Amino acid sequence: MVNKRKIQQQQDVLEDIESPSRTRQQLPNWLQKQDFTEADIPYIHTLLISSFSDWFEEVDGFPWLGSPMVLLHPDGTRIRVEGQSEDSESDFWNAEAIGPTAASTALETCRPTLMRAEEHLSPKLRAFDSIAVPIFTRTTGFPCAIVACLLPAGTAQAGQLKLLQAAALHIRTCIYRHFENLFVGGLLRERKLSKKEESRRDILFEVMRRLNDHIDVENVLSEVLDSLEQLYPICKADLFLSQDYNSPNEKVKPLAFHLNDMDLCKSAFVDGKIREDRSGGRHQLALPLSGKQGVYGVLRLDMPENEFDDADISFLTMLAAAAGAAFEKAKLHEQANVLVGELRLINELTQRLNSSLKLSDTMQFASAELLTIFKSDSCCILQFDAASQQFVVISANVAEMIGEIYSKDYGFCGVIWSTKEPIILSDYCSATPVASQMMDVTNSRSLLASPLLLNGEVIGAVLITKQEPNHFSYDNYKLLQVLSAHLGLAMSNATLHAEVRRMVITDNLTGLYARHYLNERIGRKQTRDTSGSLIVVDIDHFKKINDTYGHQVGDDILIQVSDIIRTSIRDSDIAARWGGEELAIYLPLLGLEQTERVAERIRQRVETETNPQVTVSCGISEWRMADDKVSVESLFYKADMALYEAKHHGRNCIVIG
Ligand code: GH3
Ligand code: MG
Ligand code: MG
Repeated sequence: MVNKRKIQQQQDVLEDIESPSRTRQQLPNWLQKQDFTEADIPYIHTLLISSFSDWFEEVDGFPWLGSPMVLLHPDGTRIRVEGQSEDSESDFWNAEAIGPTAASTALETCRPTLMRAEEHLSPKLRAFDSIAVPIFTRTTGFPCAIVACLLPAGTAQAGQLKLLQAAALHIRTCIYRHFENLFVGGLLRERKLSKKEESRRDILFEVMRRLNDHIDVENVLSEVLDSLEQLYPICKADLFLSQDYNSPNEKVKPLAFHLNDMDLCKSAFVDGKIREDRSGGRHQLALPLSGKQGVYGVLRLDMPENEFDDADISFLTMLAAAAGAAFEKAKLHEQANVLVGELRLINELTQRLNSSLKLSDTMQFASAELLTIFKSDSCCILQFDAASQQFVVISANVAEMIGEIYSKDYGFCGVIWSTKEPIILSDYCSATPVASQMMDVTNSRSLLASPLLLNGEVIGAVLITKQEPNHFSYDNYKLLQVLSAHLGLAMSNATLHAEVRRMVITDNLTGLYARHYLNERIGRKQTRDTSGSLIVVDIDHFKKINDTYGHQVGDDILIQVSDIIRTSIRDSDIAARWGGEELAIYLPLLGLEQTERVAERIRQRVETETNPQVTVSCGISEWRMADDKVSVESLFYKADMALYEAKHHGRNCIVIG
């Protein structure tokens, strides 16, 4: 309670003092009751010097009593006044010599003292009388100084002592004037400091509140830098970030330890502690921007010397800590968002990739998606062909690249082939590790590339490029790695699916299509086309071949005849193994006459080219849209009938059904 009242009084006093209309006479009792304590005495030398000087000026100099006067600190220190002449007696006033004079007695007895010349022990002083008066503190009543004077022997009177007492009172007024000034000055200084402190706290609170409102890294960084600019307009602030982060804010720079002037920042970053440098008339501070998970960067402040006090430094330390925590929060938030986004992307992409099993469709879709995801210019997906040991471009948004074939040693796909590692290249112009058609054709400088792996083997590669340098981030690199795993699976699924499909529709021995596939195709053709024809080829006396040469040779003859058929027809014609040693060829939109020519060519070639020699009989049929009944079965039935007839006519001939 008492303290509270006292603080209120102090406040009132300070407000009074700060008011310009206030005069000294109006000072409240409270201030006048302030006094020295005994503990203050050892520290009042300077105050005594100034007070004695003031008094000296006010009384217009020595000698006042006709002799030099001196002020002594209670510890015996002699207080001199500028301009006071050094005389032969000066030794006498030294601390050691005070003992036997009026001054020492006055200090001891706390009374005004007059000492006759003969009472002095020192023979030197026997030529003088000495007088001394103690100066008391105003409330606590102990001596805070002694004023003393030497007079020629025999001249000291009570009157001079009275005069000295008056002088002592005057000096005391001077002392208290200084004391009050100091006291009030101290209070004002403290108040100013606490006001500064208070406003700093307000600012810090505000900044922290705003920092916590932001979940965006860029906003956090701007908030910190803007607050600093407001608080310390002459301070040069730079923020160095260790993260792979490109800020549009020009004061935010990457933390580059190799640069010359970065030593301070480096040690602040490594130790996570504030670092100071006060050389060259500058005061540099390096404040680590740290969160719970580590140090993210360093805030460097550069000011003219003596601009930061301790309070500034503790304030800035708190600001940097708040900024570090906010940065970490925003960063984590951003990362969580990125992760959620990536997961959604991966999920969508894999669903889409798996929805089609056609390799070219799947890879075209993937390539378009990658272009969007990585905001890139070009994308190229290559498949590794194990048979030829080459990479083939199976999808690209660059016309020149489609269908290109590269050896496994060439370009970035070559690097990927040998390392099985992804590649991130920031500038192809400044560092060209390998020649690359993709980079040259697209005029690109940034590259992101990844292998497509299956069971640890490279089955393909994906290359993504951008014309600008430094386009891809480390996060992009990691994301592509994840996506590539899915892309690799999609590629292998589509390839396997195509392979299985090929196996299902192909006859194993002859490499011709299987019967069910031929049926399917003819069925489809009959719904779209206007006509088509069929040749059924049967090897004559095949049983004999088997019987004579064995099944192995029989099989070989089947292969020979199949190859002759394959090389005697158009790409659009479909040759299949109809069953056993019977083969069939469907010729879309071909008339009977032309079909017969094809059959004849085959017949002749078989007769001349097979070894051991065999012949074939052919039955031909055709369908037209105008027919009563159009079906695969009737087409075959007719051809079969024709074949039967051909056999009947002595074989090695063609019959049109
Ligand atoms: P034809 O001139 O009347 O057609 O007489 P053919 O002996 O060719 O006719 P047949 O239908 O009596 O015999 C067909 C033979 O073809 C029976 C079978 O052993 C043989 N064959 C069927 N498929 C294969 C095969 O995949 N490999 C071998 N080596 N022989 C086969
Ligand atoms: Mg036969
Ligand atoms: Mg047969």
